[in-house]
Amino acid sequence: MLTSSMIKEAALAAGADLCGIGSMDRFDNTPDYFNPQFLFPEAKSVICLAFRIPRGVQRGIEEGTQFFQYPSMAYGGTNQMFGPAVLYELGRMIEDEGYEAFVYRNTGARSIVSDMDGKLGQTYSPEEKAFSMDSSGNGITGDRRTMPHTRPSREGNIPPDLFIHFRLCAVACGIGEIGWSKMLLTPEFGPMQRVVFLFTDAELEPDPLYNGPKLCRMCLKCARECPGGCISTDKTKSITVNVGGKECTWGEIDVWRCNTYYTAGGKAYNPFVPAQVFDDNADFLESTTEMTPENEIAAARAFEAYTPSWVGYAMAKCGGCIRACVSVLERPGGCMEGRFKEPLRTGKPWKLDR
Ligand code: SF4
Ligand code: SF4
Repeated sequence: MLTSSMIKEAALAAGADLCGIGSMDRFDNTPDYFNPQFLFPEAKSVICLAFRIPRGVQRGIEEGTQFFQYPSMAYGGTNQMFGPAVLYELGRMIEDEGYEAFVYRNTGARSIVSDMDGKLGQTYSPEEKAFSMDSSGNGITGDRRTMPHTRPSREGNIPPDLFIHFRLCAVACGIGEIGWSKMLLTPEFGPMQRVVFLFTDAELEPDPLYNGPKLCRMCLKCARECPGGCISTDKTKSITVNVGGKECTWGEIDVWRCNTYYTAGGKAYNPFVPAQVFDDNADFLESTTEMTPENEIAAARAFEAYTPSWVGYAMAKCGGCIRACVSVLERPGGCMEGRFKEPLRTGKPWKLDR
């Protein structure tokens, strides 16, 4: 008989760092467009595999010397290589036992709702194809954050492709909780992991939802060190959702502003772009109002010549919230205390003086 411990042993042996298992009824209150119960209605269990982000891929950004290892090795690497390879192995093992393995890796931007802000309708992927679009997003297909013309394949279905909420699914599998920064935090790796999933009709013993010591210290360092001011520093401005009975709360985030700052950075945090470009676009980059799609496209156009993304995943210019969080969680009492012989941060973080 296929058991949870067999699954976990196989997942870790194949290369996952963590494996958690949830029951599908934990998604009973999930909004339809994100609800994995529609994916495979006979599924009884969901398996989450987490892959650590090696702390060393952040070292170059922390030092201001090399920016591409995080998006290529950790972000793209787990989405495109390490995660799918392990999912495939685990899926084979489950199907050899006579159960179906619906493997689910991160494909992003393939749904009727935006994978950025969860909204219905047409949203853009400005970092990919800003030059090809007018301000309404017309001009190209396939390079947006949504598939706005998709429709249900039969009555009662959700328009494909259904894109699940990865971080909340990971919570449903018991591997951790959501921090103020909206990052998934686990006791083992803090904010430093990425996840993939497998849905199966095998009825497996679920893990409890994470109920250990609070992982997020509510220090708001992630918010204070965000170069775009994208995460609220006001503890009363938060979002709370319920996942299978566990309340998850995070700070309000301007996700589109995060997209811009992640890919283009701020004037003081992007050594690849002349200061003048930031000054020329300061009216929307430094505005405190919510980023609009028009501003997004303008930002992408302004920066495209300096930081091409067609070589692969957009080069990370900040990762400020992750590094800030690690630097807090490695301190005494944090869940990453003692994990490394030396801390990630050994001095004051760099900042361009311009
Ligand atoms: S990824 Fe960068 S821009 Fe986005 S919230 Fe984190 S620190 Fe801010
Ligand atoms: S930096 Fe502090 S507030 Fe932000 S997620 Fe990490 S522990 Fe929570």
